[in-house]
Amino acid sequence: MLNDPRSHGLWEKSAPPPPATPALEGEAQTDVAVIGAGYTGLSTALHLVEQGISATVIEAAEIGFGGAGRNVGLVNAGMWVMPEDLIRTLGTDYGNRLLDFLGAGPSYVWEMVRRHAIDCEANPVGTLHAGDGKKGFTELTERARQWQARGAPVELMGKAEAALALGTGYYEGALLDRRAGTIQPLAYARGLAHAAVRAGAVIHTSTPATGIARDGNGWRITTPRGALKAGRVVLATDAYTRLVMQDIARQQVTLPYFNMATRPLPEDVVRQILPGRQGVWDTREVLLSFRYDAQNRLVFGSVGALRNTGTAIHRAWAKRALRRIYPQIGTVEFESEWFGSIGMTSDNLPRFHRLDEGIFAFCGYNGRGIAPGTVFGRAMASFLAGKTLAADLPLPLSQPAPTVLRGLRSAWYEAGAQLVHLAEARF
Ligand SMILES: Cc1cc2nc3c(=O)[nH]c(=O)nc-3n(C[C@H](O)[C@H](O)[C@H](O)COP(=O)(O)OP(=O)(O)OC[C@H]3O[C@@H](n4cnc5c(N)ncnc54)[C@H](O)[C@@H]3O)c2cc1C
Repeated sequence: MLNDPRSHGLWEKSAPPPPATPALEGEAQTDVAVIGAGYTGLSTALHLVEQGISATVIEAAEIGFGGAGRNVGLVNAGMWVMPEDLIRTLGTDYGNRLLDFLGAGPSYVWEMVRRHAIDCEANPVGTLHAGDGKKGFTELTERARQWQARGAPVELMGKAEAALALGTGYYEGALLDRRAGTIQPLAYARGLAHAAVRAGAVIHTSTPATGIARDGNGWRITTPRGALKAGRVVLATDAYTRLVMQDIARQQVTLPYFNMATRPLPEDVVRQILPGRQGVWDTREVLLSFRYDAQNRLVFGSVGALRNTGTAIHRAWAKRALRRIYPQIGTVEFESEWFGSIGMTSDNLPRFHRLDEGIFAFCGYNGRGIAPGTVFGRAMASFLAGKTLAADLPLPLSQPAPTVLRGLRSAWYEAGAQLVHLAEARF
C-alpha cells in the first residue's frame, strides 16, 4: 500500500478491491466520527448505522492500512494471557466477562462473514498452538486445563497426535482450539468496509485527522482539506495512532512482526504439511507462526522488522527454520514479505478509554485484534446507542497511562529478534 510492497505483501495482492472512498473535502457532519478504518473502526461504524445512528469513518491512509491489513490472519478466541492470570489482573467480574466476550469473538467473525457475504478465505477449522520442547508442552497443558475448566472446546494433543495434525515431529505437542481459524485479514477489513457503506456509513480514506477541538456540545475534527463535526468521537487507531491523541500510542510498546509467503506448494507437499489447514503459532519466546492462504502458499512469520539489516537476517532465518520444521518443503523461495507493528500494553490486556467527554477508544490488542476488534466495535456501537452501560462493558473505563522507556523497549524487541534469528540461522 502507498507503493510499499513490504507493508501489506500477499494480502494486498490477493484481496478483493475496497469500496470507493474519496477523501473528505469541505465540511461534513455526523452523529459519530470514527477515526481509523481497521476492524475496530469499521465494526463500530457498521453496527452504529445498523441502529440508525449516522457514522463517518476517516482513515489517514487506506482501509486496513494498520494492523488489519498486515497481520497473520489467526482468528483467536482470547488474549495471550492465561485465563486465570487475566482474571487475577482484572478481577473476577471483568475477568470472566472479558474471557466470555473474547471466547465468543471468532464465532461472531464467522457470522459477520456469512451475514455480509465477505469474500475473505474464512476457514473456521481451528488453530494449533504448538509446544516447543518440554517447557512449551507444560505451558500448553496448563492452558488446556484452564480453558477446559471454563468449558472451552480445546484439546491437548501429545507428541504423536500433534505430529499428525502439524505434519512434523518438530513439536512436543499442540493445543487445538476449535473456536478459532484463519482469514485473509485485509480482505476481511475491506469486506467490513463494503458492509458498512452498504448499510449507510460514510468512509473517507486519505483523510488523516490532524486535530480535534470542542465545537458546541460536540467535536470538530480537522483534516487536510476539510473538517468533520460530530457529537461523539471513536478513536480506533490502536498501534498505528498518529497525529492525534498520542496518549494511546504512548502507552504501547511496539513489537515488530513479519510474514513471508512461499509460492503455492505442490499438492503432494500440501497433503503432508498441516493437513487440517489450521493456523499455527508456537510457544517460543520469539515465537513463529504459519498458515496457508487459499492458493496453498505457506505464510511463515515471526518477530522482527524487515528494514535495514533485519530484512536479510530474518529472511535467511525463515528459510532455514521452515526447512527444519518441514524438510519435505525443499528449497524455499518467498513470493512476498511484509511486516507491521503490534501494540503491546504493560499487562498484555486491551483497554477501554474515555479520552475526553464523548471521545472513546478500544485499543491495546497485543497482537489479537481480528475477533476482539470486531466484537469491541459492536460493543462500542451498543454503548454509544445507549443500549449498554459503560459499567456493563467487558473492560473497565480507564485513562491511558504512559509506558516508561517505551522507545527503548520497542527498539529492544527489534534488535533482540535480529540477534535470536541471526544465531538460529547459523546453528
Ligand atoms: C504483523 C502483525 C501480525 C498480527 N497477527 C495477528 C493475528 O494473527 N491475529 C490477530 O487477531 N491479530 C493480529 N495482529 C493484531 C491486529 O492486526 C490488530 O490488533 C488489529 O489490526 C487492530 O485493529 P484496529 O482496527 O484497532 O487498528 P488497525 O487495524 O491498526 O487500524 C488503525 C487505523 O487507524 C488509522 N489512523 C491512525 N491515525 C490516524 C489519524 N490521525 N487519522 C485517521 N486515521 C488514522 C491507521 O492508518 C490505521 O488504518 C497482528 C498485527 C500485526 C501488525
